[in-house]
Amino acid sequence: TRSTRPQRLLAAVQKNATRGDPRSVVRAIDQFCRHKEWAMNVGDEKGCILDSVVSEANPTYVLELGTYCGYSTVRIASLLSPNSKLITVEFNPEYAKIARQVIAWAGLQDKINLVEGASGDLIPKMQEMFGVKTFDLVFLDHWKDRYLPDTKLMEKCGLLRKGSILLADNVICPGTPDYLEYIRNSPQYESQYFKSHLEYTKVEDGLEKSVFLG
Ligand code: SAM
Ligand code: MG
Repeated sequence: TRSTRPQRLLAAVQKNATRGDPRSVVRAIDQFCRHKEWAMNVGDEKGCILDSVVSEANPTYVLELGTYCGYSTVRIASLLSPNSKLITVEFNPEYAKIARQVIAWAGLQDKINLVEGASGDLIPKMQEMFGVKTFDLVFLDHWKDRYLPDTKLMEKCGLLRKGSILLADNVICPGTPDYLEYIRNSPQYESQYFKSHLEYTKVEDGLEKSVFLG
């Protein structure tokens, strides 16, 4: 049977990236997606914004919603300081299987916990599963209609502290209108838009960075 896109993406990593070198993994995926097949990674352009938010926040506990093949997972984890942890959530087992191999190729498996399941089921279990109290940074990049309910769920579960950062991808394309309306108008957040382009295209898209004020 024919291979899937995630399998071909993994093959490109194994062919073109150096084991244990996360930046070479990121580069190999960007090359594959720009020149061979588009895929829904945050991509190189928005990825630079993601990098600067991660570096500036210097988080200890990071939550990522939506792993796909592990592109942003590798980007984020490669910037974390030694004792930091990234928990990433993916409900598609085929994608999770590829992501584990991409993460291992980058040599980042010790920093990352990939959890298989739906965000709405896992968010209430984060504290007991991982002993985390609150997340310093959350990267929202799963299905767009889940950003708002999952944000409210994280609030309800006490996973956000004063100063926690939510970074949301694709707020323009495909777009997350209900989330943007909420996060920009709630007095509990201070929110800022970073204009960019949809991964590997010239279509406008951007990231919304929102600091929880408590
Ligand atoms: N963050 C990845 C990157 O930039 O490399 C891309 C993630 S992709 C845009 C979205 C992923 O979220 C898909 O793999 C999808 O299966 C997963 N997903 C969507 N809704 C989810 C949910 N409610 N719980 C867990 N995973 C979900
Ligand atoms: Mg995205």
